[in-house]
Amino acid sequence: MSAFDALMAFQRDTEALGQIAGRLGWDQETVMPRGAAAQRGEEMAAIDAVLHARRCDPRVGEWLEAASPPDAAGQAQLREIRRAFERATKVPAALSRRIAQVTSEAQGKWAAARADENVAAFLPVLEEVVALKREEGAALAAGGNVYDAMVQDYEPGTSGAAIGAIFDAMRPRLVALRAAVLERPAPAALKGAFDTSAQMRLARQLARVFGYDMNRGRLDKAVHPFSSGSGADVRITTRTSPTDPFNCLYSTIHETGHAGYEQAVDPAYALTPLGCGASMGVHESQSRIYENQIGRGRAFAGWLYGRMREAFGDFGIADADAFHATLNRVHAGFIRTEADEVQYNLHIMLRFDLERALMAGDLGTNDLEAAWNDRFAADFGQEVDRPSNGCLQDVHWSVGLFGYFPTYALGNVYAGCLYRALCAAVPDLDAQLERGDTSGATGWLRDNLQRHGRRYAPRETIERACGTAPSEGPLLDYLEAKFGALYGL
Ligand code: ZN
Repeated sequence: MSAFDALMAFQRDTEALGQIAGRLGWDQETVMPRGAAAQRGEEMAAIDAVLHARRCDPRVGEWLEAASPPDAAGQAQLREIRRAFERATKVPAALSRRIAQVTSEAQGKWAAARADENVAAFLPVLEEVVALKREEGAALAAGGNVYDAMVQDYEPGTSGAAIGAIFDAMRPRLVALRAAVLERPAPAALKGAFDTSAQMRLARQLARVFGYDMNRGRLDKAVHPFSSGSGADVRITTRTSPTDPFNCLYSTIHETGHAGYEQAVDPAYALTPLGCGASMGVHESQSRIYENQIGRGRAFAGWLYGRMREAFGDFGIADADAFHATLNRVHAGFIRTEADEVQYNLHIMLRFDLERALMAGDLGTNDLEAAWNDRFAADFGQEVDRPSNGCLQDVHWSVGLFGYFPTYALGNVYAGCLYRALCAAVPDLDAQLERGDTSGATGWLRDNLQRHGRRYAPRETIERACGTAPSEGPLLDYLEAKFGALYGL
């Protein structure tokens, strides 16, 4: 057996074990008995140890040195295996263990501090997480920039400076758009009660309408919506609230974007490093374009309005135009996960600048709350009223996710580029969406982006689909046109 074949056979089992670990996580969030939590913790730790040992197995290094890939796809496989191997071997095992320990502890302390509105109770453990992550970042960077090294885990090939340049170009236009929109009268909010079984039935219909293959997936309820798995087993979750059907329906469309991407990857890449999405940012571009540019656009909203009237009867919104306005209602608020398209990226930029300063050592955790509140007042024109509405609202930093936040906004930037290219490629897109037919849109995304999986680097993946390098211009133009029309600016 050639070194390449031996490496790929070994990797295939590693990928399969990774899928199993992911399915344990899915089970934990959906149907696991409550009393199983402690045992599940041990089960997950055991499989994580197996995966870690395989990822830094010295034979992988030897195979990588000896392997000659048969083609360009094989070369891309080696690129991905090499990156994972180098990452796993650069960080000392004791440091990895310590990070796992401290972050699991920190998550509990963060939840308690958030419930008590007590930032001071969270700061000591956050300080420890930041110090450990900086140490890990330094090991990964090997003399280079610590934050850049962390970003590679989520968006390979980019840097803090490159992301910062995009965000700096976006911020003034978004701050101005937000202020202008909020000066105008707000459209009606949704009122009343919406049967949750009917919500789930409509959610299932929406997943199918967006091309989700239920034969290789399933939709369940969970506390937080997510998508999990690759290839022939990609599962999604959503949640229901009797007063907020949009949460259920649009979480479902969002997760269908993630899951549809995974289901569409070329089956030849299944259980290999190329058999999944290109990066967190590219993944988010798929969930966002399904959810926002397509799902919250006027054409599709007209179709959904009819389906909601069938499911819930008259719910007090007079016509499809009013429904479209309600669906895209912009309102002042503190919470990132509840933010609309106009404000969402501003939330991300705030976190990006603060976490970059934390990792560079330019901002201490003791000054984090003040820095957060100052920036929020500057961009959102509002004083943060309590920590759970401010720097304690997200779980990410407590679990050591630094470098992850910017991929949410990069996903929006990529979605803007893809939507521009999609509209040019499918001239009757809106006519299709008015009929509830998304196949032109999802088919274009599948053929031009999704099927490639991780074959190309993230930036190249977007560039190949759009024909141009990704930039913030198309997203900003789209937002200004859409909300300018909705709010009569
Ligand atoms: Zn997402």
